[in-house]
Amino acid sequence: YRSQHQPRDNSMGINIANDDALRQLAAEINNAGSGSWTASSLVPGANVTGERIAVTNPADRREVVGHWQPADAAIVERAMENALAAQSSWDATPVDARAAMLEKAADLMEARIAPLMAMCTKEAGKTIPDGIAEVREAVDFLRYYAIEARKAFTVEALPGPTGESNTLQLSGRGVFVCISPWNFPLAIFTGQIAAALAAGNTVIAKPAEQTNLIGYAAVKLMHEAGIPADVLQFVPGDGATVGAALTRDARVAGVCFTGSTETARMINRALAARDTGMIATLIAETGGQNAMIADSSSLPEQVVKDALGSAFTSAGQRCSAARVLMVQDDIADKVIGMLAGAMAELKVGNPGELSTDVGPVIDADAKAQLDQHAERMQREAKPIAAAKLSDEAAHGTFVAPMAWELQSINQLTRENFGPALHVVRWKADELDQVVDAINATGFGLTLGIHSRIDETVDRIVQRAKVGNIYVNRNQIGAVVGVQPFGGQGMSGTGPKAGGPHYLPRFATEKTVTVNT
Ligand code: GLU
Repeated sequence: YRSQHQPRDNSMGINIANDDALRQLAAEINNAGSGSWTASSLVPGANVTGERIAVTNPADRREVVGHWQPADAAIVERAMENALAAQSSWDATPVDARAAMLEKAADLMEARIAPLMAMCTKEAGKTIPDGIAEVREAVDFLRYYAIEARKAFTVEALPGPTGESNTLQLSGRGVFVCISPWNFPLAIFTGQIAAALAAGNTVIAKPAEQTNLIGYAAVKLMHEAGIPADVLQFVPGDGATVGAALTRDARVAGVCFTGSTETARMINRALAARDTGMIATLIAETGGQNAMIADSSSLPEQVVKDALGSAFTSAGQRCSAARVLMVQDDIADKVIGMLAGAMAELKVGNPGELSTDVGPVIDADAKAQLDQHAERMQREAKPIAAAKLSDEAAHGTFVAPMAWELQSINQLTRENFGPALHVVRWKADELDQVVDAINATGFGLTLGIHSRIDETVDRIVQRAKVGNIYVNRNQIGAVVGVQPFGGQGMSGTGPKAGGPHYLPRFATEKTVTVNT
């Protein structure tokens, strides 16, 4: 879909053949029953009481879209007991039956795209194209892990001497805690759970505090698809109480986490500090300081389009987003000029409107951090452009997309999780230093390359220590099973989500030798 309200060369929509269908979807999203949405613990046998916290719309903080109730210590304990008690029978459930439940959940999600997207828009500030991509990715994760589980969890015969049969099989590790981020409140939330369940684990899911309503709806839907209530439990709460209680519990076999590098380190320490119980697995997908390298053979128009899309789609709130455009000096003035022009055309505003390119950031804290970054850049960098905010933006947590020219990538000392792009120039003989400087950030998630010289592309690919490389295109929106996603170094532990090596990390291996 391309909006009618913006120039052709910089709109960031997705292509949908039928405009009427899209307009109807948008109407359904905007008329959805927000206000009455609720979320509370889904833990069999627990007594759910306590304060109800209001959830407001990031695009207009005056609008209350629903309420949620945090779990208390007794609920967390009950969830742990339920999860432990249910694990053996879930693990003994044939893989085909587990996979069929995930596929049923995928069908239900597809059928309910409008109400799920409405929550993504009203609770998380997602634009309509982002909402469509969100539901599609959640569905893809469910189907992909179902297929992969059927392959990986069948008993494999191994060669051995005559008179002996040897087999290898995978089974669940035990209780998995899934802690997911607000920036993909349905897709990553569902992906983590689907993988852990497919592998035979029971799951306690804790969504980000900002997106409990979507998480609750997703878990209800998975229960409806046949996943038993004690096999998948929902425990909303903040990281410091509920998250910390879950990760220090010696009965937990593994944690799957997506979020900041700092929080991943905290979880790692909590798991390491347990001196009883099993040695737990941590699967973490964290931040990035992602660069796009453009050399003088690249097409400036394409560089600008892809940098713009990679930096500002989802208001830059993707761990894959481009943060630094490293551009060879020969084309830098042209690229910077076109970038400023394109940014002036970006429509920042209500994410429920089809013409909107950039919606709000998730909350006031996120906005404050980005405003602080802009202040610092005003002192330390050269301004390139800032997009315009409409008057309505005053009611929401909006940050105008901004671009700054820096002397060096080293001026960026932390991940700025929002619509901030930085440009650094480099000279013809500096290519290796450019890649080394990117590697030296310690992050290693995505890298964009724009060049029409194969040797240059190969040289960068060889030298870069990153998880996902995209050549002559944008560097966001990894597709499940097509671009397995995840980084290295400070960006994550691996394995890659949506890739063939993901499920075995959620499992233990058992070899059986029979003297026949
Ligand atoms: N998989 C997403 C992408 O490729 C990013 C995930 C994240 O931000 O955590 O854009």
